[in-house]
Amino acid sequence: MQTGARSVFALVGNTPLLDLSFASPNRRVKIFAKAEWQNPGRSIKDRAASRMLRAALRRGQLEHDKILLDSTSGNTGVAYALFGAALGIRVRLVVPENVSAYQKNLLTAYGADVIWTPASESSDGAIRVARALFEESPARYFYANQYGNAENWRAHYFGTAREIWKQTRGLLTHFVAGLGTSGTFTGTGRKFRELNPAIRLISVQPDSPLHGLEGLKHMPTAIVPAIYDANLADENLGIETEAAQELVRDLARRKGWLIGLSSGAALEAARRVAAKIESGFIVTIFPDGGHRYLEERFWNEN
Ligand code: PMP
Repeated sequence: MQTGARSVFALVGNTPLLDLSFASPNRRVKIFAKAEWQNPGRSIKDRAASRMLRAALRRGQLEHDKILLDSTSGNTGVAYALFGAALGIRVRLVVPENVSAYQKNLLTAYGADVIWTPASESSDGAIRVARALFEESPARYFYANQYGNAENWRAHYFGTAREIWKQTRGLLTHFVAGLGTSGTFTGTGRKFRELNPAIRLISVQPDSPLHGLEGLKHMPTAIVPAIYDANLADENLGIETEAAQELVRDLARRKGWLIGLSSGAALEAARRVAAKIESGFIVTIFPDGGHRYLEERFWNEN
């Protein structure tokens, strides 16, 4: 923790690397995970949102009282709202209406202006509305477009990857991460490829279009993000919502780690990789914690 931090920006990144090796099915394989709920907006999206905002400011894209506009399934919205508040920038978000009450209350707390879209259209419905709003009045908005903004993946190329490299002294053999906008996987993966081409890069997706893995995209049926680099991954794993839920429940009850559902999916994927290899050092990402999912039924299902 920083002392004497003067703004929320100073608290982004430098998250702890948790040792999850107890969850590895192979005792010759270590599993570590970045605890991204330690960011000020409680998710990995603080990294991307703060970098996109700062780049826009530097380039003058927020001058003349422009409103920051984007679509988000939740965590990026919270990040935009809090950094917007810190900088005095107005924030308008297009969000699917099925995000948790916790998430809605957070957006209100930070003073963001929210346009809700039907749950049935998920994050793609929100993307379409945000694009339409921008096309109607382009002079009014800075459309941050996290799905196509290179500053999104760069936040991980320059930030997340370097932190992991330092924390592991470059000893990792496998990197496993979920795909939403794909910023985390693309940025971190690209840097690791440069630092050590032998590191295996494994991306994680929901196993089906209808899933409960908030923040992740089923690429074969979704609007594919412009920043997504389909050639980067050595392997891609599809994870079932139930498998992620089971791990989330288990980690809370047995170890006191309260992780989110996409974190559960990432850990399940890391375990499947561990079971297949002789030995290794796997690093994965826990994009957020469990607080925003506490209303979900799965906690009581076993
Ligand atoms: N998990 C959660 C909970 C998220 O909010 C996101 C962001 N959509 C992701 C995973 C995926 O991160 P990225 O957008 O960097 O691919």
